[in-house]
Amino acid sequence: MNEYDSNRILDITKKINYLPTTKKSEADCYIINTCHIREKATEKVFHDVGRVKKEFRNKKKPILIIVGCVAQAEGDLILKKDRYIDAVIGPQSYQSINKVIEDIEFKKKQYDITNFETIDKFDLLKSTINCNSKISSFLTIQEGCDKFCKFCVVPYTRGPEHSRNFDEILDEAESLIRNGSREITLLGQNVNAYQNNNKRLSDIIYALEKKRDLKRIRYTTSHPKDMTNDLLDAHKDCEKLMPLLHLPVQSGSNKILQSMNRKHTIQEYLEVIHKLKEKNSKIKFASDFIIAYPGEEDDDFNETCKLMETIKFINSYSFIFSPRPGTPASEMKMVDAKLAKKRLIIFQNIAEKIKLNYKKNLLNQIVKVLFENKMIKEKNKYFGRDEYQNPVVVNSKKNIIGQEKRVLIKKFSQQTIYGELIDNNKFLAA
Ligand code: SF4
Repeated sequence: MNEYDSNRILDITKKINYLPTTKKSEADCYIINTCHIREKATEKVFHDVGRVKKEFRNKKKPILIIVGCVAQAEGDLILKKDRYIDAVIGPQSYQSINKVIEDIEFKKKQYDITNFETIDKFDLLKSTINCNSKISSFLTIQEGCDKFCKFCVVPYTRGPEHSRNFDEILDEAESLIRNGSREITLLGQNVNAYQNNNKRLSDIIYALEKKRDLKRIRYTTSHPKDMTNDLLDAHKDCEKLMPLLHLPVQSGSNKILQSMNRKHTIQEYLEVIHKLKEKNSKIKFASDFIIAYPGEEDDDFNETCKLMETIKFINSYSFIFSPRPGTPASEMKMVDAKLAKKRLIIFQNIAEKIKLNYKKNLLNQIVKVLFENKMIKEKNKYFGRDEYQNPVVVNSKKNIIGQEKRVLIKKFSQQTIYGELIDNNKFLAA
């Protein structure tokens, strides 16, 4: 979502004649977009600010604005700690950015804009053309969260759930497609909680399915509780909806899920997975895991490993629990650090083995790849992603950017899969 927000901030600031530059030392204005999910987020902000100061030591100071969730959560502290920073703007207040920049140009004072007026922000987005021309683009449809998982800062930094207007979303999708996008990922902190005038996420997917030049649709991030029947049906009906779902589970233990306030049990999670597989047998899953959440005992951890083995998630993002200031879980007693690390290693080894097997099974298979760009350093090499978002590289003398091609997988490395383009005629004859 920060990538989407950063691009939209660029679209907004163009209105006051600020243009993006890759020459850092020439910038008149620096905007640092921040994420509060990872550990030491605030320290990273000051580290980045230090880099800007160094760059401009002997030059005119640029306007420096911190935006995003760190600005929202710790704006006060950030402004007090470093007078070099001109403003903090929370993720729901980007509509103010042009005014803030212009004000800073004239009045030299600090600005703290961290209110939760999502409607204003979405109003401005409606009147700001999305200039993104990437093959694969993000489109925010929903922000904020009302779930209040005990470990998570999102409800405090992004505010309550708010869904964008259905027609405005389709208008923005249309302009992305006109710009050349062939894949759209619908974004929301709780994307499947989308609700606007009786329209749900599934309505957006069905509407996008009809767009001729759009080849692929994805959505992220979902909550298991909001996997409603209409959305499950979309996985059966919509060919453009990709068969990979990122569905965070966090733990395999009901005791821990309850303590996290996740609002679902493992049985309910498995039921969703089962139903999705019934709708589309090709579907595979990715997930997030918190290892060593407060109160996690050996049995709970073993349940998480068991879940990994059962579902065989093809991508998993696992981290040791780390407390976020202001969340209820930050007050809870932590699991011993050594034990936590040991559990993470065990879990990640299981996940790695599953991923390795999955990749081995891809060898000599034919997959469909949407090509996104030409590789800069290597001649005639193109980069794309298959339906499961695996990065795939092939050789091609022709420009294949924006095209979906069949690829025979020949080998893989830790990060990338390598293949050969299949001659379509040859493939059909075979
Ligand atoms: S559902 Fe997701 S965004 Fe909402 S509180 Fe839980 S972890 Fe955070």
